[in-house]
Amino acid sequence: MTDIIVIGGGPAGLTAAMYAVRRGKSVLLFEKEAYGGQISKSALVENYPSVKAVSGFEMSMNLYNQAKSFGCEFKKENVISVKDGEIKKVITAKGEYECKAVVFAVGASPRKSGLPNEGALIGRGLSYCAHCDGNFFRKRDVAVIGGGSTALQDALYLSEICNKVYLVHRRNEFRGEEALVKRVVEKENIEIVYDSTLESAEGTPMLKSIFVKNKNTAEEREIPVSGLFLAIGQVPGTAEFSNILPLDSHGYVICDESCKVKDGIYVCGDCRQKTLRQLTTAVADGSVAGSEA
Ligand code: NAP
Repeated sequence: MTDIIVIGGGPAGLTAAMYAVRRGKSVLLFEKEAYGGQISKSALVENYPSVKAVSGFEMSMNLYNQAKSFGCEFKKENVISVKDGEIKKVITAKGEYECKAVVFAVGASPRKSGLPNEGALIGRGLSYCAHCDGNFFRKRDVAVIGGGSTALQDALYLSEICNKVYLVHRRNEFRGEEALVKRVVEKENIEIVYDSTLESAEGTPMLKSIFVKNKNTAEEREIPVSGLFLAIGQVPGTAEFSNILPLDSHGYVICDESCKVKDGIYVCGDCRQKTLRQLTTAVADGSVAGSEA
């Protein structure tokens, strides 16, 4: 039996693992996709204190290698459910693992637009990750939907490789960081389409254009694009664990800065209810949760 199982290999989970293993506990970490979580898909991290600029991939690998070097064990398996009790059971498609404490660091994944053909267009023009898929649209016209820091960063990244970027936001002011807004506004090949919602994405099998609607004038506009990047926020990966975790109406875990839900159950990172979801707050959470566990 392992002392502590960490679910999720993003910055929060990897930091929790490091802190727990350095306290002499045996730690097993499950990750279903890429170590580093969302940060692994970020082109550049520029706001992590003491690090001027580093690619998200490099930062992810550093975190992973650091946790590994301290003795954390890793498994690339998707955790399906967790059974509570004095001995906790973590169940994956491949097996059942026992432990004394579980740290949930399950993060969040991109929110879907709800367009009827969204699934059909994935990989045929529609993407949730500019850094992963941007290269497919080199010298072409693309659209980014959203007004948070992710959308702003995506628009900036794509503006370097694409011909033109339309940044479509449903309001007339951005939610994302002001420093990013300033850079976006200054970019000649980014056109900001304010107050507009995405009505449809057309093209079979490949995306050819999107239709957006101005909420003030009700005017519809067709924008021919070969790439559509959705950056409209995140959905926490907590649904499977609602038997154990107290969730708010958005699915985030209700838990204070102690990162302790109850004895043996801890939570950290973007899946926790909090005001600021950043790399810095994720690793802060991870260190608390790992130590508490
Ligand atoms: P976010 O901050 O939640 O922003 C989501 C954006 O999508 C908002 O502008 C929202 O519009 C819009 N939106 C939501 N649902 C929509 C819908 N159905 N249709 C159209 N637009 C919709 O998400 P995020 O940008 O992914 O950022 C997540 C967290 O990571 C944030 O805390 C952010 O600060 C952090 N982050 C930080 C950095 C960095 O380098 N500092 C980079 C990326 C992300 P409204 O504004 O109208 O609600």
